[in-house]
Amino acid sequence: MTSTLSDYSRLCIHTITTKPWSLEEAVTRYSAAGVRGITVWRQALEGRDVVAAGQRIRDHGLSIVSLCRGGFFAAATKKSRSRAIDENRQCIDEAVLLGAPLIVLVCGATPSQSLAESRRQIAEAIAALAPYAAAANVRLAIEPLHPMYAADRSAVNTLSQARAICREVGSPAVGIAVDAYHVWWDDRLEQEIAACGRENRLFAFHVCDWLTPTADLLNDRGLMGEGCIPLRQIRGWVEDAGFRGFNEVEIFSDRLWKTDQGRFLEAIKAAYLAHT
Ligand code: ZN
Repeated sequence: MTSTLSDYSRLCIHTITTKPWSLEEAVTRYSAAGVRGITVWRQALEGRDVVAAGQRIRDHGLSIVSLCRGGFFAAATKKSRSRAIDENRQCIDEAVLLGAPLIVLVCGATPSQSLAESRRQIAEAIAALAPYAAAANVRLAIEPLHPMYAADRSAVNTLSQARAICREVGSPAVGIAVDAYHVWWDDRLEQEIAACGRENRLFAFHVCDWLTPTADLLNDRGLMGEGCIPLRQIRGWVEDAGFRGFNEVEIFSDRLWKTDQGRFLEAIKAAYLAHT
């Protein structure tokens, strides 16, 4: 294991993690706390000048790690699928304006068709977008989601499925975001992460924890160390696969959003050093 655990130089926080804060407050607070990276959720940009927002982030010494999120490609009608591709082109344009080098893709699914058909549509859409992304110098990261979301959020549920789509698309602009919350249960996780590294597809690494019981399928993620994910082991696998990017804290939690966000930020920093 090659982890460097002594500092925050690779700590990134997703704006959604401190959802009660505006983008401006998050930027000020993260920067003051010594956090070095930020992943911006698109809703945090609503009503703002995106170029100015990007400049403000950089002026505070933060690296923009990615823009969250694009995707939702699977749909029953061709018209809906074309619209999704158009929307993702706009997302790529927004990443360029912001200065974000990467977009995370939640690929989509619809219960009215098979998972295989959804995956076929996802590959087709990403193949259509890849040249546009590459020309804009923006990379696209497929994020496999936990199978509890297979019916309606993503038909891509394993790193193996994400790698298959990457191979099919065949663009160096398309890779994978490994989110520990979604893939920690996979008995082939170590080998799959290694394969992502060998294939130059390991674009991002997200962390939080799995709570038992999980009270809400979407908004009950835990702070690192609160649950059962072996985060340090997984981070070791990710680093052994050659990844040297940010460790991104991405927590959706109604429970934690209700707490004082300044104290929560301190808890994130402590949990990052102790459990990530
Ligand atoms: Zn994630």
